[in-house]
Amino acid sequence: MDNLIEDIENIVGPGGVLLGADVLGRSDFWPPMGGCQAKAIVRPASTGEVAKILKLCHAAGQAVVTHGGLTGLVGGARAAQDEIVLSLERMKGIEPVDTVNRTVTVEAGVPLQLVHEAAEDAGLLFPLDLGARGSCTIGGNIATNAGGNSVIRYGMIRDQLLGVEAVLADGTVISSLNTVIKNNTGYDLKQLFIGSEGTLGIVTRAVLRLRPLPRSSNTALVATDDFDRLGRFLADMDAALGGTLSAFEVMWNDFYQLIVMEIGNHGQPLPPTHRFYVLLESTGGHEKSDRARFEDALSEALDAGLIADAVIAQSKQQRADLWAIRDDIEGLTKAFFPPLVFDISLDIRQMDDYVDEVRAQLSARWPDSRMVVFGHLGDGNIHLVLTVGSHEPGEVHAVETIIYEALGRRHGVISAEHGIGLDKRAYLQHSRSSDEIALMRTLKQALDPKGILNPGKILTAQKETTV
Ligand SMILES: Cc1cc2nc3c(=O)[nH]c(=O)nc-3n(C[C@H](O)[C@H](O)[C@H](O)COP(=O)(O)OP(=O)(O)OC[C@H]3O[C@@H](n4cnc5c(N)ncnc54)[C@H](O)[C@@H]3O)c2cc1C
Repeated sequence: MDNLIEDIENIVGPGGVLLGADVLGRSDFWPPMGGCQAKAIVRPASTGEVAKILKLCHAAGQAVVTHGGLTGLVGGARAAQDEIVLSLERMKGIEPVDTVNRTVTVEAGVPLQLVHEAAEDAGLLFPLDLGARGSCTIGGNIATNAGGNSVIRYGMIRDQLLGVEAVLADGTVISSLNTVIKNNTGYDLKQLFIGSEGTLGIVTRAVLRLRPLPRSSNTALVATDDFDRLGRFLADMDAALGGTLSAFEVMWNDFYQLIVMEIGNHGQPLPPTHRFYVLLESTGGHEKSDRARFEDALSEALDAGLIADAVIAQSKQQRADLWAIRDDIEGLTKAFFPPLVFDISLDIRQMDDYVDEVRAQLSARWPDSRMVVFGHLGDGNIHLVLTVGSHEPGEVHAVETIIYEALGRRHGVISAEHGIGLDKRAYLQHSRSSDEIALMRTLKQALDPKGILNPGKILTAQKETTV
């Protein structure tokens, strides 16, 4: 054991450091399959311990990769053999909910689902929600500016975060645990850490903004055969539901067919013959009138020919069953293993044409390729999950070129919610100008001059030759 690891063990105690086979048995990507290469995994139990560890690592020039729930999909948590992993898994504290100001302060290692439960127990809602809710952590959500299923109504975590505490590369603790909604006292420092993927500081605590717990929830799965009508349907529902539309998730036919026919444990709430399916949800404050409004809005859409078919959940179980179709990413991943995953933003009006072009190009080069498309259409964000039967770097690069060149021609964004990490780094310039990237480097240099925090993620590391 080298001196630095020994010194760290003195801070976190014997169980706080994992070495050798215990490291190799862990993963640093999703789905978890073991194989972490780091020289040690350290597991501090408090902000003070994180600060002491970073102070030592800074002095030694030791690279540190932060681990949350490891559900990130762009290689942001991948660690090299000479790097130390700092896992927040022992920092899962949740302070009592402040029901007057509607806030809760939590440690960064707490899984998202536990925050949902704490808020609900206090009669409130923490609206950030995503399929990985059981594993992903609040720290990881902040570091990736996570979005998810209710962005259309509540925004991304950026819109739900009032304050953060973070530890800088040299061990300085920045306690910016603001609890009020309005605070215009100079630079809003929490913004530095949102979406910075562990490259500017380690988030250790957060103050989250809570909302009223909805008293009603109405969910439907609808089908349509015309993409242009989908856009009108979204606009009409948003208007008719008076700001209560909280999810508008679209599944292309290939996704729906795969999940309900091939994976097959979900039933078929609607026949698998339509081009598009939308899972939409509205939440509100009055059960009876919200239900009537939801049904009226859907029936108007049917009468106007915007949708071809619809099924409305009649119970909590039926609602859960409909969401299970949209959320069966595990089944999808198994069917396409190992999948190539793309998470893009694009003007809704260009989406259908974009997907058709990508599909045609993929089929031309890999006749056996398969791709499914789904996503948060209400936010202009779709996911393309595909397999071309190979993960060989040259083939992956060829796929990426097809996806990003077609996107570039339409001024789309290469990462809507997953971030850049390692996997999308080579394509950052498709979505950011050279001046923007230069400013990112200036910030990185100012906050982490030795480049020890998650080196090589988002931007090339100091030791790498410029790509
Ligand atoms: C089934 C599934 C569904 C998903 N759906 C969505 C979705 O709808 N919307 C969405 O936005 N994402 C989604 N994701 C991606 C992923 O869940 C999010 O990116 C999530 O926010 C990552 O959190 P994590 O705790 O797992 O972070 P990790 O994967 O552990 O880490 C992600 C990045 O954040 C850094 N990091 C982690 N914790 C900290 C910290 N405390 N301080 C500083 N840096 C830190 C890591 O170094 C890494 O760069 C999905 C993933 C899966 C597997």
